[in-house]
Amino acid sequence: MTTTEAGSEASVPAARPTGVPSPGEAAGEDAVRVVGSLSPSRAGDFMTCPLLYRFRVIDKLPERPSAAAARGTLVHAVLERLYDLPTGGRTPEAALELLVPQWERLLEEEPELAELFAGEDGEAEHARWLEQARRMVERYFTLEDPRRLEPAERELFVETVLDSGLKLRGYIDRVDVAPSGDVRIVDYKTGTAPRADFEARALFQMKFYALVLWRLQGRVPRLLQLMYLGNGEVLRYEPDEADLRATQRKVEALWEAIRRAMDTGEWRPRTSRLCDWCDHRDLCPQFGGTPPPLPVKPVDRPSPADLESAARERDDL
Ligand code: SF4
Repeated sequence: MTTTEAGSEASVPAARPTGVPSPGEAAGEDAVRVVGSLSPSRAGDFMTCPLLYRFRVIDKLPERPSAAAARGTLVHAVLERLYDLPTGGRTPEAALELLVPQWERLLEEEPELAELFAGEDGEAEHARWLEQARRMVERYFTLEDPRRLEPAERELFVETVLDSGLKLRGYIDRVDVAPSGDVRIVDYKTGTAPRADFEARALFQMKFYALVLWRLQGRVPRLLQLMYLGNGEVLRYEPDEADLRATQRKVEALWEAIRRAMDTGEWRPRTSRLCDWCDHRDLCPQFGGTPPPLPVKPVDRPSPADLESAARERDDL
């Protein structure tokens, strides 16, 4: 069952520290040979367009920085750091004060982000962009009161290996644990809530994380919570074991499709609205382009486990 609502506070009580295993712990890598790895972002790429997956994972083609993605990273960084402050100090004013220092830190780590605002109108664009980030941070406070929460984990890297040898991994924005032991997985989105017919897609990422935590902890997370800071809505879902088993089947079927594409070299383009934002249109046959030759012959290609970067893959728009 999903519920979507605006401006209401979550029902799970304040969290306490949890026993979420550290990366690698309980991943089962000793017992099972890892044959590949998948994150929700890359699984989403393949579902969107297999050719896009190829460009990103196999060819590793560079992509231009995007203002929307950078804003998402900034807002996530502010919300993560907010919980470093003492409970009573987690006010909207304190959060907004974090915006500029966090932006400066991101610029230091990724100097190419400066290109986003290098044009003639760059200063004004940057001011508008920062204002949008500011509104998202303010909107966060209409959804919950961080003074009443103590997250068990933030930006938690998790991974597990399925019996098939497929490694699942990803970063969870926040994990809350209630005194009863109930676990809530929280993800911040800087876009707007999807229409009802696209909710399943939005929830796939959350069920993926829930599946990983279930395997690591032996307990099905009680609640999955997506917080849309673009329009102030919250999407909640209570998963059960059947849901998570179905998610596992879906992930393994996806992996089989990826393996087939690797074996055959057939990465089919699938057009959608997202093509308007695709960085690789010039190389896409659907738009008159020609993909580059595959990097190496199929028999010599490295394992997909090596191909997929462990870097933080943000999927938060
Ligand atoms: S332009 Fe569209 S169809 Fe082509 S690779 Fe990008 S997402 Fe796929």
